[in-house]
Amino acid sequence: MRKPKIVIVGAGYGGLMTTVRLQKLIGVNEADIVLINKNDYHYETTWLHEASAGTLHHDRVRYDISDVIDKSKVDFIQDTVVEIKKEDKKVVLENGEVDYDYLVIALGGEPETFGIKGLKEYAFGITNVNSSRQLREHIEYQFATYNMEEEKDDTRLAIVVGGAGFTGIEFLGELTNRIPELCREYDVDSSKVKIICVEAAPTVLPGFDPELVNYAVSQLERKGVEFLIGTAIKEATPEGIIVAKGEEEPREIKANTVVWAAGVRGNSIIEKSGFEAMRGRVKVQPDLRVPGFDDVFIIGDSSLVINEEINRPYPPTAQIAMQQGEVVARNLAALIRNKSELETFTFDNKGTVCSLGHDDAIGVVFGKKITGSKASFMKKVVDNRSLYMIGGAGLVLKKGKFNVF
Ligand code: FAD
Ligand code: NAD
Repeated sequence: MRKPKIVIVGAGYGGLMTTVRLQKLIGVNEADIVLINKNDYHYETTWLHEASAGTLHHDRVRYDISDVIDKSKVDFIQDTVVEIKKEDKKVVLENGEVDYDYLVIALGGEPETFGIKGLKEYAFGITNVNSSRQLREHIEYQFATYNMEEEKDDTRLAIVVGGAGFTGIEFLGELTNRIPELCREYDVDSSKVKIICVEAAPTVLPGFDPELVNYAVSQLERKGVEFLIGTAIKEATPEGIIVAKGEEEPREIKANTVVWAAGVRGNSIIEKSGFEAMRGRVKVQPDLRVPGFDDVFIIGDSSLVINEEINRPYPPTAQIAMQQGEVVARNLAALIRNKSELETFTFDNKGTVCSLGHDDAIGVVFGKKITGSKASFMKKVVDNRSLYMIGGAGLVLKKGKFNVF
């Protein structure tokens, strides 16, 4: 009898979690499992702010996919997904096509630019290893060039961060730790460095606990960040950005580095493949399948799950992507064993911790507020936990964070 073929696209938190759980749940004779990913490595998206600021080398945030998959059960294909032909049950790749009986789409998200002019051309993103490496190099180049020029150009030392959501704040935490090192290394006067964070909402970290938000703002201000709150980025230009606050006249801020960290949308492959989506995210059924397509699951940043308590989508996080991956693995095992009852996904929110550099953080964990070194310790526990869940103790020893005290 022909074995069913399960194809998983994307080896991020959701896709890799699905794969490692599935390889434990099913036998070699029960199904063929194929994992497809752009790179032969997985990167910890949740650590990219560190690689982007240069406080952690990019090789520390990634590991080989072959280290965590069982090659006797999983075929790995390194290739880029171009389109999904769901009616023909085919995944189109840059270098060929793969057909499937069951498909798991776990391709992550992309920066949401809201169509703002110039962002794609002139702003940096914190999206993957390539973009993080480029941003780190760019900032370092500005510092290295500053003293080479006879006429000093202070815009080389001006860095704008668009968005004070969790990504923007975590990046600022790392950046403010990195700047003194860069100043020392390149003999730059630290008073010349300008770090500006522009946030459209009336507060930093909209929706988060106000007491913790105040703590984060005062810590970052103390380290030199200037916050422009209730101010929206309207355009990015080769010289910097144009911002506007309420009815005030738009104004220009000159900066050689503009980082766009103002939200994510689903992977563009979703819309390109004709799935019905909101900002690239598909509202999945309770069993995580796509309405109308019983053979396709979508998880992670390209999926949308409603928090019934407030009737709003859960924010896309690694936490939810990994929990979805566990459920999808069990649901796939049920499907190939011809069980019609599938498990319903329920998000178990363990809390949120937002780092402010390697030595400080804020968070709400199991309903309790934490700050400072306690929160920072917790953040490293969370970071190590995701390694443990995918690759066990061996991966934690190889890639984990042990600078906990
Ligand atoms: P990802 O983990 O992004 O993986 C997607 C995978 O698909 C990647 O391997 C990518 O290479 C691959 N891929 C993409 N396109 C293609 C293609 N066309 N073909 C083949 N492969 C492709 N969440 C938390 O819960 N806690 C945190 O502390 C936290 N911190 C964060 C910090 C930062 C700086 C950022 C940017 C995000 C953070 N998040 C955090 C959010 C979290 O990282 C995402 O929600 C999570 O990565 C989503 O998981 P995913 O599996 O959907 O996608
Ligand atoms: P976000 O959507 O959470 O925050 C984006 C911020 O940008 C918002 O505050 C928004 O008001 C602001 N913004 C939007 N348009 C703007 C404009 N034109 N000008 C200025 N500001 C503008 O996005 P994010 O921070 O990238 O996070 C993405 C997802 O990843 C979220 O679900 C988040 O929870 C998750 N994440 C979690 C952690 C953590 O748990 N530690 C860390 C990073 C990211």
